[in-house]
Amino acid sequence: MKITMLGTSAALPDPDRAQSAILITLDNGKNYLFDCGEGTTRQMVKANINPADVPWVFVSHLHYDHVCGLPFFVLSSWVFNRKDKLKVYGPKGIQDFVDHSFENGAYKIDIRARADFPARQKNIDAVRPDVTEVSPGLMYEDEDVKVYCDIVDHIPTEITDCFGIRFEAEGKVIAFSGDTAPCDSMIRLAQDADLLIHECTFPESFLEHRAKSGVGTFAHTSPLQLGEIATKANVKSLVATHFGHFDSTSPVIKRAAGMHLPVELMGPERLDEVARDIRKGYKGELRLATDLMRIDL
Ligand SMILES: [Zn+2]
Repeated sequence: MKITMLGTSAALPDPDRAQSAILITLDNGKNYLFDCGEGTTRQMVKANINPADVPWVFVSHLHYDHVCGLPFFVLSSWVFNRKDKLKVYGPKGIQDFVDHSFENGAYKIDIRARADFPARQKNIDAVRPDVTEVSPGLMYEDEDVKVYCDIVDHIPTEITDCFGIRFEAEGKVIAFSGDTAPCDSMIRLAQDADLLIHECTFPESFLEHRAKSGVGTFAHTSPLQLGEIATKANVKSLVATHFGHFDSTSPVIKRAAGMHLPVELMGPERLDEVARDIRKGYKGELRLATDLMRIDL
């Protein structure tokens, strides 16, 4: 199978990274999408995948950097002649998100206008995704894959569930953290995985700054913690992703992030710090994600 890192950034508009999205393509051509942040559909086209050929989307949680690309993905794959309904799986609240996006929501006028034409009316089901709100456990299976989820530690569960995911196919296991602080459920999901794709939002130096400035560290995983997680879970290979713009050289991001991030430390050299700190706890295969990076398993 092939894993394509479509988007590898956190929540800010980063000129060098699209937001969270991972595409898994099996050897038989079936495509499974995990998260759908801003830029997902365009990245997919760049990676030579037709969005209309992606029938399943799994949403880890409802922060906008993981889900705001979903309306564009649905609408553009309608225009690209998607035949069947898209299947969307995610936490409670994803049904409401979809209900308020399409024929009864934000894009109802666009849909009404385009559906006036027979070509668009023909596959109107493409804008009526089938949504399944899931609980921890087996969230999806077909003859080729099994997908499990469990609650990770990111947003308080009184507000919403955030999921980590374990994907099994072709005798291989891939785990994806979504966003989370270190937690036992993620280590269980990732146990003995062939590939762990895990968030690593801020380097240690940024966390120190954020703790001092009182903006909070939020529920994310640091590079030192990630090294320990990968070792505890005994994964064969690790991809760190969901980078919080610490490697950015964008003057706009630097100006906008000044309140929250130590701007003087921002730059590509932070990636060296991240790799070094992950390595303190983990000696296996390591990649730091870049957009459109592909991994063949
Ligand atoms: Zn995020």
